[in-house]
Amino acid sequence: MKLKILHLYPKEMNLYGDHGNVLTLVKRCEWRGIKTEVIEHEPGDPIPDDIDIIFGGGGQDSNQNKIEDDLRHIAMDLKKLVENNVPTLVICGLYQLFGDYFETSEGQKIKGINIIDVTTKAGPERLIGNIVISTAEYGEVVGYENHSGLTKLGEKAKPFGTVIKGYGNNGDDFTEGARYKNCIGTYLHGPILPKNPRVADWLILKAIERHQTKPKLEHLNDSIENRAHKVAASRPQ
Ligand code: GLN
Repeated sequence: MKLKILHLYPKEMNLYGDHGNVLTLVKRCEWRGIKTEVIEHEPGDPIPDDIDIIFGGGGQDSNQNKIEDDLRHIAMDLKKLVENNVPTLVICGLYQLFGDYFETSEGQKIKGINIIDVTTKAGPERLIGNIVISTAEYGEVVGYENHSGLTKLGEKAKPFGTVIKGYGNNGDDFTEGARYKNCIGTYLHGPILPKNPRVADWLILKAIERHQTKPKLEHLNDSIENRAHKVAASRPQ
């Protein structure tokens, strides 16, 4: 078995080390003897239909603008994969564009692809800092956020977590990120996966589940990852 990881727009959408999420997935598979292949998607490229994990990072408003047309072009392919329960992680800028739209502070609407039922509008100030959230499925999750966008969840989206420290979706309702099927959208940079190995392993497990019934992931020694998590959680906002 080889897991195919689709990395969306690695050049345009890669803030605060988001690329480290792909490295984490590859390494945690490699340490268990699971083969991977990373497919870097840039505007104009086709989307293979045998993708096992989708990942997309954050990006500045101007870079969201650059990929807007291509994203719309591949929307149906991505929708099909997410509807087929392909595990997906999208951060900040691409989280916003997996929703309905992101309206910038200049009032420009960058259109999203409506996979996650959320809408986002830039607020008067940027929400910046370390963030800690609690989640039912992965326990405490830590990261770093920096966004102007204020995101509201629609009826079909569940929050990814509840804010313990930081701002989350909008600094107002204590929700952070969104879940739809096996797709997670979140504001957590950092990158998120090295310091939150439970989330990384969940993505890997969901990918393998589509090939095998009741797969088990070999246990890894996460003492360094857990220490990094603890340090991040103890930092002031
Ligand atoms: N441009 C978006 C915002 O500021 C996304 C930023 C990001 O991906 N960190 O809300």
